[in-house]
Amino acid sequence: MVAVHSTVRGPALGGCRMWSYDDSRAAMRDALRLSRAMTHKSAVANLPLGGGKGVIVLPPGARLDARARRDALLDFAETVDRLQGSYITAEDVGTSARDMTIIAEGTRHVTGLARAQGGSGDPSPSTALGVEAAILATCERVFGDRSLAGRSVAVVGLGHVGLRVARLLARRRAKLVVTDIDRGKRAEAEKLGARWTTPEKAMTAAVDVLVPCALGGVLDHHSVPGIQAPAIAGAANNQLADEAIADLLAARGILWAPDFVANAGGIINIAVELEPSGYDPARAKERVRGIGDTLRGIYDDAAAGAMTPLTAAMELARKRLAAASA
Ligand code: NAD
Repeated sequence: MVAVHSTVRGPALGGCRMWSYDDSRAAMRDALRLSRAMTHKSAVANLPLGGGKGVIVLPPGARLDARARRDALLDFAETVDRLQGSYITAEDVGTSARDMTIIAEGTRHVTGLARAQGGSGDPSPSTALGVEAAILATCERVFGDRSLAGRSVAVVGLGHVGLRVARLLARRRAKLVVTDIDRGKRAEAEKLGARWTTPEKAMTAAVDVLVPCALGGVLDHHSVPGIQAPAIAGAANNQLADEAIADLLAARGILWAPDFVANAGGIINIAVELEPSGYDPARAKERVRGIGDTLRGIYDDAAAGAMTPLTAAMELARKRLAAASA
């Protein structure tokens, strides 16, 4: 299924998620929620794009063999093609650049193809680069200094994005505490000189910055009172269990970089693929680093209007959407 939330700023770009759901209603709810988030993410990043999301629904516990996976991707391509470019797909949780190549057999409205095919490839390196820019801008605001040398940082989740973020931070000589539910990641972490801990301890560690790079919903009424880090910036989508958590973080004096601002590097990178001159990695990197300035503007607006960074970021998205529909 495909959910198109908004096309007022341009075609609705959003990944195709292949995931198990209890039923199709749960999948539809997820697609609608994620497509709305994509609208805000692209508007705040000032991309000429709307918001959409594709979902290939698997029954609980299902695993597709290569043939069935290919058929599912081609069915999805047919749905995308019927939308005639108002929705453009890309990779997401459960899909890869190789899957996009299969989808491209059925529609031209697909991005994120492998670099060898002229696409922008795996978005995770760009997402990690954007998260690094968000961490620097957040440190600058909290500590008055963007240097990470000697600053303690806890990275939760060492997947495609988290491990890359940890590497970038190690290069800046941050003191790393890292964790993952997959203990197989420990060896990689130790190569970076990072201290390994449990997910529970990482969330409440006495560090300067907390970097959530695993699942959503990690910031809730239970976890926030125990957080000691004064700054939070990470890749995970939908970090707040609900929007009221933004007020709770502010009340505790914790500066939280809105997730849809900090993790926009992947979509900013993909958007370069759609420009008339085609994909250019150097141009993409420069745009992704712009997340730092976007966030600085949001922190300024939040301070000036006595609001949370979440409210300031949503206001910015609303203003840009209103201007586009006018
Ligand atoms: P991934 O699946 O590669 O990595 C997630 C990692 O988190 C895995 O190693 C997993 O074992 C670990 N994990 C899961 N639950 C955990 C827990 N409770 N505690 C500690 N570790 C846990 O995913 P990814 O592509 O690295 O994405 C990470 C997050 O960033 C997701 O929320 C994703 O939606 C978001 N995001 C990713 C991109 C991208 O370009 N990949 C872009 C935007 C947002």
